[in-house]
Amino acid sequence: MVNKERAISKFLELVQIDSVSYNEREMADYLIHYFTDLGYEVLEDKGSNEKVPLANAGNVIVKLPGKGTLAHQETLILEAHMDTVEPGNGVKPSITADGKYVVSDGSTILGADDKAGIAQILEVEAVLRENNLDHPPLEFLFTIGEEVGILGAFAVDTDLLQGKIAFVLDGGGGPGTAIIGGPDYYDITGKIIGKAAHAGVSPDTGISSIQVMSEAISNMTLLKIDENTTTNIGKVICNYPTNVVPEVTTFAMEVRSLDRESGKRQLNHIIEELEKAVVKFGATLEYDVNQSLFAYHHTDDNPVIKRFKAMCARHDLDYQGIVMRGGTDVSGLTFNGIDAIVLAAGGENGHELQERLIIDEFLQNIQQVIWLVTE
Ligand SMILES: [Zn+2]
Repeated sequence: MVNKERAISKFLELVQIDSVSYNEREMADYLIHYFTDLGYEVLEDKGSNEKVPLANAGNVIVKLPGKGTLAHQETLILEAHMDTVEPGNGVKPSITADGKYVVSDGSTILGADDKAGIAQILEVEAVLRENNLDHPPLEFLFTIGEEVGILGAFAVDTDLLQGKIAFVLDGGGGPGTAIIGGPDYYDITGKIIGKAAHAGVSPDTGISSIQVMSEAISNMTLLKIDENTTTNIGKVICNYPTNVVPEVTTFAMEVRSLDRESGKRQLNHIIEELEKAVVKFGATLEYDVNQSLFAYHHTDDNPVIKRFKAMCARHDLDYQGIVMRGGTDVSGLTFNGIDAIVLAAGGENGHELQERLIIDEFLQNIQQVIWLVTE
């Protein structure tokens, strides 16, 4: 039923539409026209654009009424993000000589992350339509700003959606693979303010902010904290002439954890060490903690897992539930009360110039979504 040529040619078309994060307009317009021409109700989620003013489009939502014997079942959401990372403009895709992959020309990413997910949704709709297949009411959700902090999925106006179950088509691997858990994520940014002084003439009247920072860091547990929790310092900036006792040192670090309590404990530990160090040297600490992801870990009785596992069992697919420390749109949807998991889209080496679409997996993954929404 999956039309291989059509699915691949759609994918090739989609990756040539520039849609680097915050510049999703062209992609949004393409989808709005495509589904409007097919006669569906299509909405642009203006509220998401207001909450993400840097973007030049909002999330796009398409509604397919249920059909036949499944028409009155609960609504299912299929989701993919419209934006890509950089360098993502002017993609020139080609199929490799062995016919197994789609690649870029090496000067840009390919954008299979997540145009493979969007292409899957277009092919699923086409198969349902031309075969007149029964299915529950469906909602397609195409988000903005995933790559810059899951912005569209967090900002989505849930009043525009009926569905409470979502399949996010944005993972790696073949059919059967699902991401079922994700982390809490805290960004800690701030500065230590000491006191400037001439380093040669009167160093004893100064407070060296970099010395305070070093003291704090040397007392912190960092990197892998336990099975669930990690911490990393990404930035410490202090840049003065050597004859000046440096007044200000700025920093940025992250804590992520699959376990709420362990993550909070580690966050408190980091702050405590910073505070102890500033007290010891008489400096001042200013900081901000921003939680951008919220941990989730679906158990087997979760409706979205149940539905996916049952489909895997019917079709002899090897179910694999993976917990991932990176962020996906599932974090935003879960935050908004929608049970979601990530299914494989078909790409690999995302965010790299070597990114490619594995054609076989891409096609098999489309088939698995068709099974999910027609049985
Ligand atoms: Zn992605």
